[in-house]
Amino acid sequence: MKIKTKLNAGVGLLFFMIIVLSTLGGWFIYQLKKDTQNILAANYNTLQYSRNMLLSLEEIEKEPFALSEFQKNLDLQRQNITESGEKEATQNIHEHFSELQNDQGNYSLHSAIRKDIAELMQLNMNAIQIKSGIANTTAQNAIAVISIAGTLCFLIAFILMVNLPANISNPIRELTSSIHQIANQNYRQRVQFESNSEFGELARSFNTMAEKLQEYSESRIDKILKGKKRIETLIDNMHDAVIGIDENRKVLFVNDEALKISGLKKENFVGKLIQDVAVSNDLVRDLIKEIINPDAEKNPAELLKIFVEGKENYFEKEILDIKVIPTGEKESSFIGQVIMLRNITPFKELDLAKTRFIGTVSHEFKTPISSIQMGLQLLENEKIGSLNEEQQKLIKGIEDDTVRLLKITGELLNIAQLETGVSQLNIRPFKINHMIEEVIKTNKSAADKRQISIYTDVDSTLDVMNADQEKTLWVLNNIVSNAIRYSYELSKVIIKVERLNSEHVKFSVTDRGLGIEEQYLKHIFTRYFRVPGTKTEGTGLGLSISKEFIEAQGGSISVESEIGNGSIFSFILKIN
Ligand code: ADP
Repeated sequence: MKIKTKLNAGVGLLFFMIIVLSTLGGWFIYQLKKDTQNILAANYNTLQYSRNMLLSLEEIEKEPFALSEFQKNLDLQRQNITESGEKEATQNIHEHFSELQNDQGNYSLHSAIRKDIAELMQLNMNAIQIKSGIANTTAQNAIAVISIAGTLCFLIAFILMVNLPANISNPIRELTSSIHQIANQNYRQRVQFESNSEFGELARSFNTMAEKLQEYSESRIDKILKGKKRIETLIDNMHDAVIGIDENRKVLFVNDEALKISGLKKENFVGKLIQDVAVSNDLVRDLIKEIINPDAEKNPAELLKIFVEGKENYFEKEILDIKVIPTGEKESSFIGQVIMLRNITPFKELDLAKTRFIGTVSHEFKTPISSIQMGLQLLENEKIGSLNEEQQKLIKGIEDDTVRLLKITGELLNIAQLETGVSQLNIRPFKINHMIEEVIKTNKSAADKRQISIYTDVDSTLDVMNADQEKTLWVLNNIVSNAIRYSYELSKVIIKVERLNSEHVKFSVTDRGLGIEEQYLKHIFTRYFRVPGTKTEGTGLGLSISKEFIEAQGGSISVESEIGNGSIFSFILKIN
């Protein structure tokens, strides 16, 4: 049955019961009223008239108008005949009264009339008793009928009160709990209600929706599984090694390449805590250094050299944090990390080939350039023949170019040697003063050309130091030549050598040149870096080579500079 029909029927029944009860009540009240009115009209009036007649009869001897009063009440009584026998009793009174009117002194008539009246009164009192009995029965019937009807109504109302709200609220409760189940992704949830009520329709719609959601979720899971398989295959076939860990550092996946280079079996890797795997595997230990100790200083350029299948391979390590924003939230949460080892061996091999090529070329260039230099010196010699002014200028130009060429090839050769690891340290004692003199000699002509004076300030307590003389000289030469090249004409360059402590010596070269902007200072020792806008020719290699030469000897190199005020390049080395 439809909810609306049920409600209509329930409320209608209650309404009907109210009508039945009120009609019954009204009918019985009417009956009782009729019974009492009957007594009043039919009997009470007769008693009243009889009483008046008796009183008038007492007065007849003294008051002549009492006769008319008697006559008046008798007439009223004659019109109020209601009981059987009443008519005869009234007729007797009338006859005796007519006789009394003709014979007023006859006292026997007085008593006859009194008797008649008494009989009339008795008749009516009997009738009153009977009618009161009837009214009583009516009242008892009314109580019985109304009580039965009331009890019936109460029972029906009670049944309705118990059943009707539950009939509506139970399905709503069931539906609410089913909706909760669906919200919790339990798409198998169904509801069953009486099929032809509105809830039945609702249940059918709900079940259709749940079925479709179930279908969708199953197809989605299928899609997700396929997608997962695709990604797993992709990761497995990657040439780079990939290891995925969750937020508790448990290994989630490892691809074939990672297994190959680590030499581990999948079952000994996946599902284990990565730090436990690292205990027995050097490579994994190396990989998770940063994960275990995130505050440790990172070296982004650090490459991992790993022997795979008897061949040297180079890998670049990258650790990616995986963060997702959960549905309905604003903050992203950390769910794990992916460690990637990019195999850069082919690039490394190409780079090495390039470096070797540069090394070979610059080495091969050195001899012909030196021969050109010698040839030029011979040409300048007057014994060979004199040159006119024009020719001398040309020779000077060629000489400058060969010096530059020699500097460039020298720098390239140094770089190639550093990269290939050919460059070796040759530590032995040498005199500091000799090295300074050599530097001044080398840079004299360049300084003179720009009218720059070179000053020296060497600590007199310093004499011999133990280092790679060639490389240290090269660095000092490079710094002094930079100081001259990047200074204004007529300025001065100071070479200072001081004892820092009993173990260290500090070389510094101060110029009053252009200076370097603060933003470029951190890049100055990077390969091929040149301050933007630098007009003087150069390769941008000198300072990077200097840094590597000094650091190879356990020293450090630094720069202080202020734009427009000049620069101070200094390096510190051990004395012994
Ligand atoms: P190069 O001098 O061949 O360009 P360097 O590595 O020696 O290469 O120097 C890198 C850059 O640093 C230069 O190009 C120049 O811009 C800047 N630089 C080096 N020394 C000085 C200096 N004393 N004063 C100002 N700038 C300098």
